[in-house]
Parts: sequence; C-alpha cells; structure tokens
Amino acid sequence: MKPAPFAYTKAKSLDHAIELLARPDGEARLLAGGQSLIATLNMRLSAPQLLIDLNGIGGLAGITVKNGGVEIGAMTRHAEVGRSTDILKHAPLIALAMPHIGHAAIRNRGTLGGSIAFADPAAELPACLLALGGEVVFAGPNGKRTVKADDFFKGLFETALGPRDVLTAIRVPAATSDMRVGFAEFARRHGDYAMVGLAACAQADGKGLGDVRLAYFGVGNTPLRAKKAETKLTEGNIDEAVKALASDLDPPGDVQATKATKKHLAGVLLRRVVKQLMEPPPMGSPP
Ligand SMILES: Cc1cc2nc3c(=O)[nH]c(=O)nc-3n(C[C@H](O)[C@H](O)[C@H](O)COP(=O)(O)OP(=O)(O)OC[C@H]3O[C@@H](n4cnc5c(N)ncnc54)[C@H](O)[C@@H]3O)c2cc1C
Repeated sequence: MKPAPFAYTKAKSLDHAIELLARPDGEARLLAGGQSLIATLNMRLSAPQLLIDLNGIGGLAGITVKNGGVEIGAMTRHAEVGRSTDILKHAPLIALAMPHIGHAAIRNRGTLGGSIAFADPAAELPACLLALGGEVVFAGPNGKRTVKADDFFKGLFETALGPRDVLTAIRVPAATSDMRVGFAEFARRHGDYAMVGLAACAQADGKGLGDVRLAYFGVGNTPLRAKKAETKLTEGNIDEAVKALASDLDPPGDVQATKATKKHLAGVLLRRVVKQLMEPPPMGSPP
C-alpha cells in the first residue's frame, strides 16, 4: 500500500518544529528516522496532513557524560549509540540492548528519540530507560520539561508527550562500580521485536543486590516493572522472585506466544538476568 497524500517540511530549529506542530491533534507528525512512522503511513494506520522532518535541526544528536549522568540526544541514531565507547562504559545496559534492535539498516536510520516517543511495548530502549530510572526531556509551547521514566509510558503507544511536544533527549544515571546491569530477550529471529524481554539494573550490596529494577517488555501495553519480584531479589530469593512474576505480570497472548508461554519465558529470562547481575563483566568490556 502507499501512504495517503501528505505535505512535507523540514524544521529549521526546535522552536520552528514546535510552531509547525500547532495544528489540530493528529494532523502533523514529526519525522525522525522514519523506521516506524513510514511503515504506519504505508499501512494507512496513520494519515497526517503534514510531516515535519527533524533531521535538519542542529544540536539534537550526541552523547554527553556529565554530572553523574549520560544524556543522549533524541536524533542520535541507534548505530551511533551502539558503537559509542561512552555508552559502553557509562551506560552498559543500553550497550547490551542495542544489537537486539532490528537490523543494521534500521539502526543506521532509527533514532533513540523516535524509539522512546513511539513507545512500542516490545521495544528494548523504553525498557532500558525504565530499568535505569532515567528521565525524558522534551520541549513544547510551554517550554522544556523533564519526566521520569516511571511516569512517561502511559499506555499502548501512549506517553507523557503532548501533541505539540518534541522529545529532545533522555538522561540515565552513569554507571558506578556498584551498578549491575542485565539484559536478555526471546525473539523468533535475532533482530525481531521481542516476544518477551527483560532489562535490569541493581546496586551490588555485599554478596547480594539492592535497589533492583526489573523492566519487562513485550508483556503488556507499556514496559513494566516487576515490583514484587524486585523485592524478592533484594531479599536474595531467586525462586520466590520467579514465583512473584505470576502476580507482577499478566501478559496478553498474541500471534507469537500464549499468555502461559510468555509467563514461563519471563521466569527463564529472570534467572538468566540474575546471573548477569551477580557476575558482572568488568566495566568497559564488550557486551
Ligand atoms: C523491520 C523493522 C524491525 C524493527 N525492529 C525493532 C526492534 O527489534 N526493536 C526496536 O526497539 N525497534 C525496532 N524497530 C523500530 C526502530 O527501532 C525505529 O527506529 C524506532 O522505533 C523509531 O525510531 P525512528 O527514529 O525511526 O522514528 P520515526 O519512525 O521517525 O517516528 C516514530 C514516531 O515517533 C515520533 N517521534 C520521532 N521522534 C520524535 C521526537 N524527537 N519527539 C517526539 N516524537 C517523535 C514520530 O512522530 C512517530 O510518531 C524496527 C523497525 C523496522 C522497520
């Protein structure tokens, strides 16, 4: 299928993009890497009147490590994030997730901001952001705002972004020597969206783990914290943590797997990820 007709314009600046978005809701859409948007247009799941291209705006891409945090600009391509030594060293969870996102051609065009704004419930980066307790920075007609990842993902493909907001960056805490991260997913083929996936972050606490954050993806309308399992892991009880998933998660069955299969896979992933959390690779080593 071909998309419905639309007008196209290239925003000259962030303010220009926000100005161009001043149309009735749904009439204008931002274009970043186009890897999700163009597919929805071609399938006529969306038919905006105007596409506003963000690709000409300076200052929206790049990776900065400062003040104990890592900031990644919205227009930073997945490929750039994936080969960044700063990401490997200071945001190793994101480094672990990157190779699972689509294929090389998609990672060359797709952007970090597009992935977070699109908020596909089976996508890797929203779950990493949630596991790391990161935040999203965006700008709109009322200025700049920052929203914590825990409050950002609202529903299926729905976020805290308003119709005139432009996501400008995400921020995550920079890794410390005590930070432990883990990542695993099941997908039918490498590069496919996950059937079930898990991104996790914790603080080493003696021989155990503290501040455990487990963010599952592919199991609901948004990435989801498994909070009861987090508590059980903090108490050092892996078997009880796996059992707790029964009440933490209620994944809908889909064309890929039944609810029961997804629940089972969630437990298998938890055991794999706990091993990574307990036996971390030296910081800065390849994921
Ligand atoms: C075959 C295929 C396989 C894929 N597999 C995976 C996968 O395994 N895992 C995964 O996570 N992703 C996967 N993707 C999606 C890919 O990661 C996309 O790049 C990403 O979801 C969207 O990023 P984009 O830059 O292409 O955004 P676009 O497609 O340009 O935009 C997506 C949406 O976000 C909005 N948007 C974009 N940027 C902003 C911004 N700065 N502020 C506000 N709104 C914005 C757009 O208006 C649009 O609604 C796959 C894509 C394809 C085609």
